[in-house]
Amino acid sequence: MAEDCIFCKIVAREIPAEVVAESEHTLAFRDINPKAPVHVLVVPKVHQPDAASLAQAEPQVAAELLAQTRAIATQEGYEDYNLVFNTGAGAGQTVFHAHVHLLAGVDVSKLFLA
Ligand code: 5GP
Ligand code: ZN
Repeated sequence: MAEDCIFCKIVAREIPAEVVAESEHTLAFRDINPKAPVHVLVVPKVHQPDAASLAQAEPQVAAELLAQTRAIATQEGYEDYNLVFNTGAGAGQTVFHAHVHLLAGVDVSKLFLA
């Protein structure tokens, strides 16, 4: 566990979060400031600063995290969803514990990519 990492503290259940799913190596909880009808953060239990670092250090955990997204979207009642990995402060990353934003109920691609 990294000192002063808010997501490590959520994983350790030291600070509360609305947990929606848990797997052996991941935890998923609702974003405190939701930007879509479903806005869930899926994080590895292990501390890595971003998703690419996680994939390099623990590829099987990165794969588990990705697989979890579909299970969680299904659980939330959505077949279609967007995944966002903000990587680096210049790209809006504010919490430096790897996480993916799972967004459903709004087509985020229309905002940025279409
Ligand atoms: P980033 O900008 O780093 O990709 O996303 C961090 C996300 O974490 C933000 O969407 C923010 O709302 C969310 N967040 C920050 N602190 C907390 C917290 O204490 N609890 C929860 N559930 N979400 C948080
Ligand atoms: Zn952490």
